[in-house]
Amino acid sequence: MPENPITATVPFEEDGIHHGFLRLPFSHDQSAWGAIMIPLCVIRNGDGPTVLLTGANHGDEYEGPIALQELTVTLRPEDITGRVIIVPAFNYPAFRAGTRTSPNDKGNLNRSFPGRPDGTPTEKIADYFQNTMLPMADMVLDFHSGGKTLDFIPFACAHVQDDKTRESASFEAMRAFNAPYSVQLLEIDNLGMYDTAAEDMGKVFVSTELGGGGSSTARTNGVARKGLRNFLIHAGVLDGEMQVDPTVELRMPDDDCYTFSDTEGMHEPVVDLGDEVSLGDVIARVWAVDRTGMAPREYRAARSGILISRHFPGLIKMGDCLAVVGVPET
Ligand SMILES: [Zn+2]
Repeated sequence: MPENPITATVPFEEDGIHHGFLRLPFSHDQSAWGAIMIPLCVIRNGDGPTVLLTGANHGDEYEGPIALQELTVTLRPEDITGRVIIVPAFNYPAFRAGTRTSPNDKGNLNRSFPGRPDGTPTEKIADYFQNTMLPMADMVLDFHSGGKTLDFIPFACAHVQDDKTRESASFEAMRAFNAPYSVQLLEIDNLGMYDTAAEDMGKVFVSTELGGGGSSTARTNGVARKGLRNFLIHAGVLDGEMQVDPTVELRMPDDDCYTFSDTEGMHEPVVDLGDEVSLGDVIARVWAVDRTGMAPREYRAARSGILISRHFPGLIKMGDCLAVVGVPET
């Protein structure tokens, strides 16, 4: 395989705080010998664990980038033991465009792993994290939110895994993040995910879904800030007391948690995020947009639980994820 062309402009092994870039050569119409400059901050103080922190894996999710930008101006080397690697905008071209996927190649970074060193810009970013960044890390936190098309109750999550030792280490880190909700996640489609790449390498991996709609709120930014600090303390790189508040633990046992739209039209939420639903309850209705006198298509919960996610825009298409129900741990 050819070598990945990405280079870091700052050292990973030197003590202190270093602000720089991951430099990805990208020849295009506006810049023949140009490069995509992905912001990078490396903070190190002696030997200790390495924590790898990423936001904007999808470019239209903002709580992570905000909390991580703040960390690059507040966290001092003398505050830590070990190393903190911060990439606030993981899929930087997507982040700059304010879109889920990259404008360069339409790449969805979280479906591009393990990537290719000779692939598209998104595939090169994936390959660099697969072969250079992830191997350096002990614990990995990747911030997500719903983006423009989904909205979530604020939760931290970790995956159900075959290796139960690894799974429980990730669940502990998820609980340390201490979002208002903590979700044991079953993915509908885990092929190509950063999460899977990290877990297959034996890393402790935590992700989040903190809000959505293509923006952030004071509440969800507060959840990100507190969770990030707790995560660093849990990882052993930062001293201090964790702030621990009540959290609701949820599971996603099977595909019945997800409801997809099989019509297109106007989306009427019938229950709101965080509301309790019972099996068979109407959770949303989809109305015709092109004529009057049509009864709406009703969608019912296939499980009892709490509404943890919903389609965000007012219009919906066939195949869109309409709602997700999480099941409280008893
Ligand atoms: Zn995302």
